[in-house]
Amino acid sequence: MKKSFFAAITLIFALGLLMAGCGGEKKAEQKVLRVGTEPTFAPFEFQKEGSKDYTGFDMDLARAIGKQLGMKVEIVSMGFDGLIPALNAGNIDAVAAGMTVTPERANSVKFSEPYYKSGLSVMVRKDENAITGIESLKGKKIAVQIGTTGAMEAHKIADAKVVEFNTNTEAALELKNGGVDAVVNDLPVVAYFLQQGGGKDFAKMVGKVVTAEEYAIAVKKGNDKLAGDINKALAELKKNGEYDKIYKTWFGEQVK
Ligand code: GLN
Repeated sequence: MKKSFFAAITLIFALGLLMAGCGGEKKAEQKVLRVGTEPTFAPFEFQKEGSKDYTGFDMDLARAIGKQLGMKVEIVSMGFDGLIPALNAGNIDAVAAGMTVTPERANSVKFSEPYYKSGLSVMVRKDENAITGIESLKGKKIAVQIGTTGAMEAHKIADAKVVEFNTNTEAALELKNGGVDAVVNDLPVVAYFLQQGGGKDFAKMVGKVVTAEEYAIAVKKGNDKLAGDINKALAELKKNGEYDKIYKTWFGEQVK
């Protein structure tokens, strides 16, 4: 009698442990969505001072999409020019990096529906009076981030000397140090940098917005399933107000 009682207790404990184990395993089984980004692009993707976490509009959006898909988002940081090769090599599943949809890129990756309207702008030093916009950059020295639409646009300018950097931080620093006359970069990023007092107010934005661009999430060409799932998630986030909430967090206003 006593023996069987202990046996029953032991069995219950064993079953309990087994079930706890199963639960744990299930959690570990949650699919991972590896999202590539380049984190010197505030307010879309960056690391707050002293923090290793990736934060920003794209990061919130990527995590919200992951939640919709029941997937755990893992952010993978790399150079902007390494994102599409990493996608094609299968090292990441998606790119969320303020990546502009261009015809050339659309040849090598599959883009989701666009999620943000952007464009390029010109940043110069505060005491600069000769440069008033993209049209005054002929023959000038221009800093850009490698592999970006800013780099592509700068290369079109006659006689300009284009200096390419791995990060936007270095491009801005080169402007501050007098190594270049201007930086060509995405307008919302320049605006945020100036608004946050980046580089202690040494810079200003000049001229009109240079291009009309749209950001989208990129996946490997042929991965129509993931692109479709991302589009469905994006549509749901727009419908349920989550997209608006994220937008307001980073831009402090309603979606334009
Ligand atoms: N939107 C630009 C591009 O796609 C810049 C992106 C970035 O620097 N993260 O090229």
